[in-house]
Amino acid sequence: MLFGDVANEGIVVRKVVMALNKLHSTERFEMDPETAFEAITEAEKEGLDFVGLFHSHPAPAVPSTIDLKFMKLWADAVWLILSSTDDNLAAYQMKASELREITIIVK
Ligand SMILES: [Zn+2]
Repeated sequence: MLFGDVANEGIVVRKVVMALNKLHSTERFEMDPETAFEAITEAEKEGLDFVGLFHSHPAPAVPSTIDLKFMKLWADAVWLILSSTDDNLAAYQMKASELREITIIVK
């Protein structure tokens, strides 16, 4: 889970919270809801917003059909995807049902 700030120049990730995959799968994931709730509560106390999710694919770093379904539910969240096959990292956001790739800047 990615937490940070949404500013004019973009989304700044300031905190990363790892959550176990409840499905213990390399192809699908489901976050433990208690972990998610605690992480969001803690981040809110720190003045941080939930800004996105990071996960990996044993495939290209593009949203899967399931990712796209959940991206529509979590509007504005950035989905950072790492391909474990070619180490490519990409970020996407679903805005008004339009998928767009986000430029990643590492500082
Ligand atoms: Zn995915």
